[in-house]
Amino acid sequence: MSFNAPRLVGPTPAIGRTIERVTSHGKHLEIVWDDGLTLHTHQRMTGSWHLYRVGERWHKPTKQLRVAIEVTDWVAVCFNAPVVETFRQFDRHRHPGFGRLGPDLCQLNADLDECVERILDHVDPSMRIAEVMLDQHVVCGVGNVYRSEVLWAVGLSPFANVGSVSEQDARDLVHTAARLLRANLVNDRRVTVPGMRGGLAVYGRNGQRCGRCGDTIEVRRIGEMKRLLYWCQGCQARGDQRVAPTPPHGFERPMDPHPAAAMFLSELPWRRATDGDDTLTHDTVAQDMPDPHARPA
Ligand SMILES: [Zn+2]
Repeated sequence: MSFNAPRLVGPTPAIGRTIERVTSHGKHLEIVWDDGLTLHTHQRMTGSWHLYRVGERWHKPTKQLRVAIEVTDWVAVCFNAPVVETFRQFDRHRHPGFGRLGPDLCQLNADLDECVERILDHVDPSMRIAEVMLDQHVVCGVGNVYRSEVLWAVGLSPFANVGSVSEQDARDLVHTAARLLRANLVNDRRVTVPGMRGGLAVYGRNGQRCGRCGDTIEVRRIGEMKRLLYWCQGCQARGDQRVAPTPPHGFERPMDPHPAAAMFLSELPWRRATDGDDTLTHDTVAQDMPDPHARPA
């Protein structure tokens, strides 16, 4: 047997140990050795695992190799996975990032109540709900497109802290996500709002008008991964907890609910993003736009 992982983070599996178990969940894959060492890979958008006979030609270049595990006759190769790490089972539950994964919403028997509980009991109440939607320890299956679409469908601000989300909103988020994901399992093209041009409510539609309230759809990169988030500032204001600095002396903070007024107010300098996210111009987004017909991550 041989083990080769050029970018491995964590201890190297001992040669001669036996692989006891391989489990996959969404884009996570775990290989567990009999001494308790676990290899975890997350494929994100780019990674893949291949299985070859020893000596067989690989379908991807060697420089994309992230893990190769060779045993008698077979070699399992992981290409391009951004996350390749090992840890001892013992440590797993102590690491805040490595609890058990949340239910996979694409599975018809997924426990939706458990997903709701995982939102309401989230370990970091200050995390924004838009980031929680991509947290695989809460739910699996919600990719970047669906999180924007689901938050719009529920009418909740992506900038609501998870600790402030009501049980009803948590329930609506989970059930809406499950419904949209399952409805699209068999479609060639992703549709979350039937009848809407392009099939999507907000994703990829920055600068366009919201089909529900007519306000302008916004885009921003948020979170550690700087993934694109789309939302309507008009009908998704509920729960928004972005902290704005105190306006200059002499200015009241007006609360005019009219969409045009909201748009004007959002352009005031002290109402702009203050949470470190990248506000985007339409030009920078255009380069980042995925193929609109591609399946969600
Ligand atoms: Zn709207």
